Formats: sequence, structure tokens, C-alpha cells
Amino acid sequence: MANWGLCQDCKWFQIEPKATAGERTLGLCIEEDLQEFRLRVSGASGCNRFTEGDVAHAKGSSSAPPTAKPQR
Ligand code: SF4
Repeated sequence: MANWGLCQDCKWFQIEPKATAGERTLGLCIEEDLQEFRLRVSGASGCNRFTEGDVAHAKGSSSAPPTAKPQR
């Protein structure tokens, strides 16, 4: 299970502009192959597309469904 990690530490995790990434933070996964699913995930979610990095921010990232455009 190479490179599996938590959304809260992943550069593809996009959250609201003033939010900080924690286990309960909700946001949109903007990983390129997963974007089409408009997958709303929490900081405690994770997958093997995990890439460590700073999270992205955009308004509407935590809506159901998310309305924000991917910022990467
Ligand atoms: S679902 Fe996977 S790729 Fe998307 S933010 Fe979470 S760990 Fe990253």
C-alpha cells in the first residue's frame, strides 16, 4: 500500500478559504483522476493517491456537493 496517507496532509485536499486541515475538516479531493467524482472527503479520509504537501483552499470546497473549482 505504497504512499497511502491522510487527506489532511495531502496536496490534493482542498478546503474552505479560512479552514485549517484537521481530521474533521471537510473538503474536495482535487487529485486529477478523482476530480470528476467530486469526492467530498474529511481530513481523516485517505487513499493511495496521497501526495504530501500543503492543502489548497477555495470557497465551496466543503459544500454538498462541493461547488468550488479545483485550484490545481
Ligand atoms: S482522497 Fe486521496 S488524493 Fe484525495 S485528498 Fe485524500 S489522500 Fe489526497
